[in-house]
Amino acid sequence: MDSIRLRFAPSPTGALHIGGIRTALYNFLLARQQKGTFVLRIEDTDQARYVPGAEDYILEALEWCGLQPDEGPGIGGDYGPYRQSERKDLYGKYAQQLIESGHAYYAFDTADELAEKRAAAEANGNTFKYDAKVRHQLVNSLTLSDEEVQKRLDRGDNYTVRLAVPPDELILIDDLVRERVQFHTNELDDKVILKSDGMPTYHLANIVDDHLMKITHVIRGEEWLPSTAHHVLLYRFLGWEDTMPTFAHLPLIMKPTGKGKLSKRDGAKLGIPVFPLSWEGPNPENTFKGFREFGFVPDAVNNFLAFLGWNPGTEQEIFDKEELITAFSVEKIGKSGARFDYDKARWFNQQYLIRMLDSDLLPHVKPIIEAHGHQPDEAFLLTFIGLMKERVHLLPEFWEQGHYFFTDYQSLDEKMVSKKWKPEFRTAFDDLHQLLRDTESFTTESLQTTVKGFINDHGYKFGNILPILRLGLTGTTKGPDIFATMALLGRAEVDRRLQASYQRFDQLTQE
Ligand code: GLU
Repeated sequence: MDSIRLRFAPSPTGALHIGGIRTALYNFLLARQQKGTFVLRIEDTDQARYVPGAEDYILEALEWCGLQPDEGPGIGGDYGPYRQSERKDLYGKYAQQLIESGHAYYAFDTADELAEKRAAAEANGNTFKYDAKVRHQLVNSLTLSDEEVQKRLDRGDNYTVRLAVPPDELILIDDLVRERVQFHTNELDDKVILKSDGMPTYHLANIVDDHLMKITHVIRGEEWLPSTAHHVLLYRFLGWEDTMPTFAHLPLIMKPTGKGKLSKRDGAKLGIPVFPLSWEGPNPENTFKGFREFGFVPDAVNNFLAFLGWNPGTEQEIFDKEELITAFSVEKIGKSGARFDYDKARWFNQQYLIRMLDSDLLPHVKPIIEAHGHQPDEAFLLTFIGLMKERVHLLPEFWEQGHYFFTDYQSLDEKMVSKKWKPEFRTAFDDLHQLLRDTESFTTESLQTTVKGFINDHGYKFGNILPILRLGLTGTTKGPDIFATMALLGRAEVDRRLQASYQRFDQLTQE
């Protein structure tokens, strides 16, 4: 059997939703697993909805996620061009072929006339559907004489081409996810396949291109399932049914509550990313941060997205890209909606941060620290990363939770100070401070021995002494190992901070 060919076919109508990335990911995984080809096709025939910058966004998002297409715009391949606007002259002949074989017809109804019909139907509580039942009462090449049709065409009247959906038929689709799906043609309308501007609609362009690009599998979101019935008819009428791709429709992505489909607006509403990358829209409502800017690493996003609709059927949850390529299978894609669980996304990211080498995290963390005006040397940063990585979920938290490694702490847990800064331990705090000034070695191990020895020798309790040490150095009682923290800060900084903090604690508790 020839190797499989899959495609991701987004429309550049705005920033690509995270669901689009999931579709791209599933196509990519299957292509890689089966040593097939992953094609990127830009479906930009709807000029009214075209958004400048959206195609670049798609390319950048795929690149960030590491989902590199084998063929596509700017990449090349034997089946190009891969942008539908550059293929527009190609579709007309198929529309023509369908007209000649009686499977499509010219429709001359104006937008106003159709709007009137719609309004009239609604007034009676019905919906207007341009279909086999009504097409014979409308203005089209099935009701007009051949001469009249020709006259209108010669005159340059506006027209669309519609698919003549046959009545009273059952269309069966064997979907890899949904199994057998059936549509009755009486439910379908006569879809426009060629618009008045001569451009094909999604339906025609999509199937013509899938055919010409020899696509073997169509994996896409469930929202396209109803269109598939029309697509099957198009394949049939064009004589391509025997090479029609196999379909797999992915379950919807649901809101974090589990109720309703995840929408673009949920991101802003809940303060969570629902797009891969940030997007600068024309106004603030259309501007948002993506997974990248929230501080996710791409493999964690892929792992999270892979599980939105698929699972391996085992307990294992962490799969890097290579493992996903091996484990992925369309048979294990679920039918029911997949809940977008943002906490789970954060958990995945944490797991990836923990597993990443400190040196691999360096290029992610360095710019964050530098953006706050600090230029620590690499050895310092590497130790810092090693200390913090188990404690953070998202990259910016390296700064938010660890800023005090680079500058005086920015906030102080005053409640904790009042609780722990006790007159009866004052001598102990001062003695320990002096001991830290004098102690010879300032490594994690030696500090641990020295401080613990001091506490034990004097019969103090760790819980009475260590929190003040940490508060004095970091402003908080939470953080990585205190001895490692001290070792990284260094003797002079520890001395300076304790000096300043103890004065501050005195003032605080005297007020
Ligand atoms: N252009 C469609 C979209 O924007 C493609 C759907 C399909 O994969 O057929 O998602």
